This record gives sequence, C-alpha cells and structure tokens, in this order.
Amino acid sequence: MQLTDNFGRPIKYLRLSVTDRCNLRCFYCMPEEGIKYLPKEQLLSYEELLRIADVFADMGVDKIRITGGEPFVRKDLIDFLEKLTMDKRLNKISITTNGILTKQFLPQLKSLGINQVNLSLDTIHEANFKKITRRDDFNKVMDTFHQMLSDGFKVKINAVVMEGINDHEIINLANMALKYPVSVRFIEEMPFNGSKKNHASIKWDYRKILEKLKSNFPDIQKLPSASNSTSENYTFENAIGNVGIIAAFSRTFCGSCDRVRITSTGEMRTCLYGHNVLNLKKLLRQGHNDESIKSEILRVVQKRAKDGFEAEKLRDKSYPIGESMSIIGG
Ligand code: SAM
Repeated sequence: MQLTDNFGRPIKYLRLSVTDRCNLRCFYCMPEEGIKYLPKEQLLSYEELLRIADVFADMGVDKIRITGGEPFVRKDLIDFLEKLTMDKRLNKISITTNGILTKQFLPQLKSLGINQVNLSLDTIHEANFKKITRRDDFNKVMDTFHQMLSDGFKVKINAVVMEGINDHEIINLANMALKYPVSVRFIEEMPFNGSKKNHASIKWDYRKILEKLKSNFPDIQKLPSASNSTSENYTFENAIGNVGIIAAFSRTFCGSCDRVRITSTGEMRTCLYGHNVLNLKKLLRQGHNDESIKSEILRVVQKRAKDGFEAEKLRDKSYPIGESMSIIGG
C-alpha cells in the first residue's frame, strides 16, 4: 500500500528522532540551561523504533532520515542502524548530525551503505561556532567534514541563516561549493528555539538569501530539483558542489510534502508546524498489532493540514510554537 494524505500527497519519507539529547546548545534551537532530558523509559527503545520503521515501510515509506537531538549521543546507534539497513524496502537511509562524535563511526556507516550525511554547520569560523553553539567543538566538526569527503560520503551542509550572527558568512559558506563537492544549504530560521519566542518575520528569507548569492555569483543558475525537494538548488561558475535554499519559515514547498516525523518520545507529526497528532509509543506499549497501528496512522494522515500555515493555525492553543527543534528532530 502507499500511505497518502487527504490532499493526495504520498507519504514516502519518515524522519525518525532517536534521542532528545544534544551535545551542542545552538541558541536558535535550545536554551543554554534548564533543559530537562527525559528519562530513558520515556524515549522509544531501539526495538520500538524498528517496529515503527517496519510499519511505515509497509505503508510505502522508502526513505528514513535519522535525527535527534544528536543521533550519535545515543549509545549503540550503529547496532540500531545495522538492523534498520536490513530492511530492503528502504531505498535510502540517511542521517543528520552535528559532526562532533561522528568521525569515528564513518567506516561503519559506509559499510552499512549509509553514504549520505547532512552536517549542520552554520559558520566556518571557530569563534562564531562557539558563540552560536555555546560549545568549543569546531575542530571536531571540521575533522568529520574532511573525513567524510575523503571517504566519499555525499555531504550536505545545513546552515541556518541568522541576522547579525552569520549573515556575513553566506558567501564564505557558499564558497565551500567551489572547493568541495558539497551541497551547502541555507535554511531560513524557524521559531523552534525552545524559548517560546515566536518570530513573525525574518530578515533572511529565501528571496534575500538568493539576492545575496546573486550579488556575488552573477551567473548563478537554478538546477532542476525533485518535485518533493525542500531546497531550491543552484550552481555557479567553477562550482564543484552546489548551493541550496530551504524556505523553512516561508513554507513554499508544503504542496509536495511527502514526509512525516516521529519524535524520540514516539509522537507523530504530520507537519513540522503542527502539533503532535498520534502517540505511537502509547499504541506500541498497549500492545496494538500492526493493523491497528496502521489504521491510526492512516486516520491522522487523512486529517493533514494543507500547509505549514494551516497547521500552525490549527495548533493546540495551549501549546504555542516554540518548542526546541531538538524535540521535534528538525
Ligand atoms: N543534531 C543533529 C544536527 O545538528 O544536525 C540533528 C538534529 S538538529 C535539531 C536538525 C537540524 O535542525 C539542524 O540542521 C539544525 O540546524 C536545524 N535547526 C534547529 N533549530 C532550528 C531553527 N530554529 N530554525 C531552523 N533550523 C533549525
């Protein structure tokens, strides 16, 4: 079967968060102090994560991205990935990481066939890295980056563009595509920062980011993108990589959204901007069989919001936007 929403959009892509813990404190994602990590028993176990992946694969999902928190802070992640990669219905398993602990696991990722890694990197300056992430791990991340390239990983760099913080680095980050075969993706800042401070607008929206890129690369050219792509991708003269812009706040790509998210506590979201719609952990722990879980998934997918704006409007008013992205998984 192919899981399809109430607007006829097939759901092919699952983002699975394996932990709420992170070894960075990026200010746009999490508060510096006072984060209460959940006790282990409130998080999905690896067995439960595998069961969820199995159910979704049965419903037509063929791509899974592992996220967090920081996935590599969870013990035995590689054992879990080994089991996940045995599912041949999954064409693509990828991972999003901040790169701090990742380098040591690259050989295992490679041998599991996980050869696409998204690396979060908002700056190429050590001091700015410390300011943004409140941690001193820039060199570890860069080491991972270089190792990934020499090991032949397909690397996408994700950089959130923030006014007065790293907007002066847009061109330098884009220049990485001149030197390395990477895709540097600029992401609009979203209000999921764990502070409940919602922003109504952003200076660096996708148009402004593109203008900035055009001012430096006058020959910039749009590349064809898959219809379900969240990024608009571009190339420019002498680039061996490319750049992308993800309008995550402007939400220009919702019409072709093919993804759902599962938080590390087993809550399902059919839109990043919406609220949790189904507690899968509860269903699993109550002993529901696959058919019953599938019918619940189908029920919530049939009530999906048209886009991120509608989802935001329909959100439970007692739960305003502002939770940390480390909870949702990005
Ligand atoms: N720890 C992993 C990492 O750093 O990639 C995975 C989880 S992290 C929450 C996933 C992505 O969400 C990162 O690329 C991060 O930059 C992005 N992110 C977090 N908060 C954000 C926000 N408020 N706006 C836009 N992107 C955000």
